[in-house]
Amino acid sequence: MRCFYSILLMALLGLAATRAAEPRPNVLLLVVDDLGYNDVGFQGGRDIPTPHLDRLAASGVRCSDGYVSYPVCSPSRAGFMTGRYQQRFGYEYNPKWDATAATHGLPLSEVTLGDALRSAGYRTGAIGKWHLGSHPHFHPNRRGFDDFFGFLGGGHRYFPNSIVEVEVGAGKKAASTGDAEHTSPLLRNSAAEPEVGELTTRLGEEAVAAVGRYARTPQPWFLYVSFNAPHTPLQARADQLARFAAIADERRRTYAAMVATVDEAVGRILDALDAAGQRERTLIFFISDNGGPMTKRNANASVNNPLRGQKGDVFEGGIRVPFVVAWPTRIPAGRTYSQPVISLDIFPTALAAAGGKRDAGLAALDGVDLLPFLTGKNPAAPHPRLYWRMDAGEAFAVREGNWKWLRTYQNAPQLYDLSQDLGETRDLAASRPEVAARLAAAAAEWNRGLIAPTFGNNPFGGLINRTGPEKNSQP
Ligand code: CA
Repeated sequence: MRCFYSILLMALLGLAATRAAEPRPNVLLLVVDDLGYNDVGFQGGRDIPTPHLDRLAASGVRCSDGYVSYPVCSPSRAGFMTGRYQQRFGYEYNPKWDATAATHGLPLSEVTLGDALRSAGYRTGAIGKWHLGSHPHFHPNRRGFDDFFGFLGGGHRYFPNSIVEVEVGAGKKAASTGDAEHTSPLLRNSAAEPEVGELTTRLGEEAVAAVGRYARTPQPWFLYVSFNAPHTPLQARADQLARFAAIADERRRTYAAMVATVDEAVGRILDALDAAGQRERTLIFFISDNGGPMTKRNANASVNNPLRGQKGDVFEGGIRVPFVVAWPTRIPAGRTYSQPVISLDIFPTALAAAGGKRDAGLAALDGVDLLPFLTGKNPAAPHPRLYWRMDAGEAFAVREGNWKWLRTYQNAPQLYDLSQDLGETRDLAASRPEVAARLAAAAAEWNRGLIAPTFGNNPFGGLINRTGPEKNSQP
């Protein structure tokens, strides 16, 4: 009997301890691909209703000046997956689709967010587009993710055996059943599974199932849901297309249907969190991996208004993206945060929220924990400056306060005051030479901490305006 009571007492004490300590949050990282800055409701878009993304934004903070660290897919992902400017480890191009390309991917020396949260005791899952290398040693299961469902390449057809439009050269397209990358098997961990139905819908279903499965375990979890929509090929479900019959342009109509399908999938994931009783204790990030490609390679009829430029540019349209952070118990809802933040901040923010330790093996991060800033505890700007280098130094940009300095290819450096000129139309480099010189010097100093690309260009990975040989040039 005494034994029974002591067990009961211990159980009650254990329960009290559990209740006293706030549970560590789950982390949900939602990434979409090539979404226009203005193409969701919470950013001001009007022709594509996105009620679920809007309710996600309303439940947290919309970062109006939220950036990614590169204006195309894979280097941008290498950045947020490590919390480091990816040029520090030579990641400046999209990797080849080639399972023998042992250097075309996220270097094995880098610690991923999956590794860090897994070390902190989290269950970790990745769903959707990987695009951090197709060699087996880059597989998500080997890069910190317990569970994976998705595809290893940079894109995928949305329907099995469908005809897609593929890029076959500068500005040239052809109808095809798809190249090897876009028709690669869907993988559950390493086992191929048949394609069934529309892919965005399927990825959403997989995420809902993962949330349900993870919620039944005592562990906190990290789920990375990486939609390839609305990246090309432009393909959508007939019922979604029918909703946008009023959009005359076929490409914009299909794009709208794809964005709406992402929105529907996000809604189902949020509903699954509610049903599991875990919405309040889940830290959610939502970003696009780069700006919308409006006219260049893989153009998808996206709109980045009022920003200048697009995917592949260091103008705002290439690097400033829809960016939401929500955590109902910790971050005030319904606010817009206007200090510049960057996707590199996701790693340290998630790690700090998880109570994870920055162990000695973790290289210096470029991101910062955003929580003190988003809660208003720290009124300062999270970053004195943000930096971009593109195409092995063919282009650079710096953001410092409201100033934006950039140099692209053979053009003279440019300077804009984003507080007066969000569209980067009035170059102030000549009238404010002291500011231009300061930011050029800052770019040069930052560049000294980077290395030359460790893997190079490929027909689908290089940048559109490329003019010269790869080099680690100075800004
Ligand atoms: Ca992309």
